Amino acid sequence: MSPIDEFRQQTRAWLEENCPESQRRPVVKEEQIWAGRDRVFATPDAKLWFERMRDKGWTAPTWPIEYGGGGLTSDEEKVLEKEMARLNCRPPLYDLGLWMLGPALLVHGNEAQKQEHISKIVRGDIRWAQGYSEPAAGSDLASLKTRAEDMGDHFLVNGTKIWTTQADKADWIFALVRTDSSGTKHQGISFILIDMRSAGVSTTPIELISGDSEFCQTFFDDVKVPKENIVGELNNGWAVAKELLKHERKLMATMESIVQREDESLVELATEYIGMDESGKLNDSTIRSRITDQLMTADALEYLNERLFFQYRSKQVDSGLPLTVKYLGTNAIQQKDELLLLILGNHSLSWQEQSHTPREHNIVQNWAYNKAHTIAGGTSEIQLNIIAKRALGLPA
Ligand SMILES: Cc1cc2nc3c(=O)[nH]c(=O)nc-3n(C[C@H](O)[C@H](O)[C@H](O)COP(=O)(O)OP(=O)(O)OC[C@H]3O[C@@H](n4cnc5c(N)ncnc54)[C@H](O)[C@@H]3O)c2cc1C
Repeated sequence: MSPIDEFRQQTRAWLEENCPESQRRPVVKEEQIWAGRDRVFATPDAKLWFERMRDKGWTAPTWPIEYGGGGLTSDEEKVLEKEMARLNCRPPLYDLGLWMLGPALLVHGNEAQKQEHISKIVRGDIRWAQGYSEPAAGSDLASLKTRAEDMGDHFLVNGTKIWTTQADKADWIFALVRTDSSGTKHQGISFILIDMRSAGVSTTPIELISGDSEFCQTFFDDVKVPKENIVGELNNGWAVAKELLKHERKLMATMESIVQREDESLVELATEYIGMDESGKLNDSTIRSRITDQLMTADALEYLNERLFFQYRSKQVDSGLPLTVKYLGTNAIQQKDELLLLILGNHSLSWQEQSHTPREHNIVQNWAYNKAHTIAGGTSEIQLNIIAKRALGLPA
């Protein structure tokens, strides 16, 4: 047996033995296991599952063992992902540190920063927020204005960040700040780590149309930050920011596997809501062909993701491919949402939970929420601009 087949066999056996039955169903939002000092587990099984995966380092399977990661190769990680999908295992940990900061810190962080932060991320001890966008700096991120002034033995941070996801629940935030205004706008930006408990940090939740409040505006008023909290070179934070964005885009394109929707098989739903004709075909030929399109798109995306995986593994990534995957992947999620609504017909019209079945309610909520995917991590228009410039070499 080849080493990878042996790994597959062992992983399958381990998951079957260690993943509690209740953790083998799509995770509902209230049961997601978010990192943090005040981490809470919805059930004892969720705690057990998290602890078992954490102790194996499989909350961050490919990160180095010395920082608590699993030390797996990318091929082994793929096997683990497939085996977890086979059993429907829930993700054991949710955190922006795990998805975005950690990978960037492993590339740009110094040893002390890795020692301090990476193992806490793997262990889910700290919940991270992202402080990139500002009220006047979203797509044009480099025009950000939040300042970090050198005060000799520390930085003094002043400014505000917006759309900071769950910053009110975060322990730390990674942020882009201006440390020099003399050069071009991409120069003079630094990447800094800030403890949310520091004096002068405050958050105001932003209420969404759904009534939820996932975002905040975060304010920094004379916040003292130790100098060692700069990641990478001072004034060269843009390099760290770009590394992190690569991971954020990948995350957005594969959000479906993380969010783990309830079973939303297009064919099953269409069979139930639209029905079949005498010849055993779906009763609506337009929806039938749209379902076919959608299934073909899903397959094509899977192959595109495989291609990206192999490029990452051989460290020869086409400059446009991650952006293309983000663009197409997030569009495909939204097209599927539209199609699901079409299939539900008038069962998708109401916004109130009482007038829907829970599944219908989820589908409608997801349709509304997933509009965000083509905005977060850089809008679709911006992905197209960069693909045009960098990958296709078109004039600006
Ligand atoms: C779910 C979600 C979570 C988020 N979480 C965070 C977070 O945790 N931390 C954080 O810092 N930010 C976060 N954001 C913010 C996100 O990064 C920004 O919304 C995004 O970068 C777009 O910026 P903006 O909202 O200011 O839009 P704008 O930049 O104002 O853009 C408005 C519109 O103009 C278009 N546009 C702008 N410039 C161009 C151009 N040059 N060419 C063509 N079209 C253009 C855009 O595509 C868009 O349609 C989140 C956003 C969402 C939706």
